[in-house]
Amino acid sequence: MTDHPTASPVANGETIVVAIDGPAGSGKSSVSKQAARRLGFGYLDTGAAYRALAWHALEHGVDTSDAASVLDIAGSFDFSISLDPDAYWVRVGDTDVTAAIRETRVSDAVSGVARVPALRQSASALFRALVAASGRPGVIVEGRDITTVVAPDAPVRILLTAAPEVRAARRSLELTGHDASTVAAALHRRDASDSGVVDFLTAAPGVSVVDSTELDFDGTVDAVLEVIESALATATGARDGN
Ligand code: C5P
Repeated sequence: MTDHPTASPVANGETIVVAIDGPAGSGKSSVSKQAARRLGFGYLDTGAAYRALAWHALEHGVDTSDAASVLDIAGSFDFSISLDPDAYWVRVGDTDVTAAIRETRVSDAVSGVARVPALRQSASALFRALVAASGRPGVIVEGRDITTVVAPDAPVRILLTAAPEVRAARRSLELTGHDASTVAAALHRRDASDSGVVDFLTAAPGVSVVDSTELDFDGTVDAVLEVIESALATATGARDGN
């Protein structure tokens, strides 16, 4: 994988990482983006990298269930992503794939790509490099393994969950024109397939759970911001010896 961080590093101090994990339909992308806007932070959608690689593999007619072929095609994967929550885009080479990576054919293929250990390692290294080069005071990094693998030492780690039926209902609202039961079945298939790779349904020690089952969008953003503010206050207090 290659990357093109566009901004210069933060001049003083390290970029604060807010790690948010959760399953599909938990609202983590839209909630993370909005929380990032409110804080003036960057937003990194790590699922977009796996989706873009799945898109790239499909473009080249690669069988995404075959790890060797996926690894092979990853060698020519030229990925870039915006960390600006107000100007989000994803590119492979010169092609803007922001919309294309949400297509059902990509969602159906992505778990195969995400299962390859060597790819997960280079993806994690890429995510850390993108955060370090973000030029923002902090970045909300969102995915399946951020609290456990990509940024286990982040000062704020959150698992955003919601009941399975609520997640399925939200996802089918997003995908207009799709039958709700088909959407629910696809989401459960992807959860089952992903959970063999990363346990994103159980909070690791030290990870705060925000359950959005009973919350609307603004309520979920507020709950996430509360966790972030209190964790950062604690981290600052500990650093200053208070
Ligand atoms: O979050 P999103 O649904 O866009 O993620 C797409 C897919 O990418 C997931 O179903 C999962 O297979 C993979 N993924 C992952 N680790 C991440 C983010 C996404 O394995 N950190």
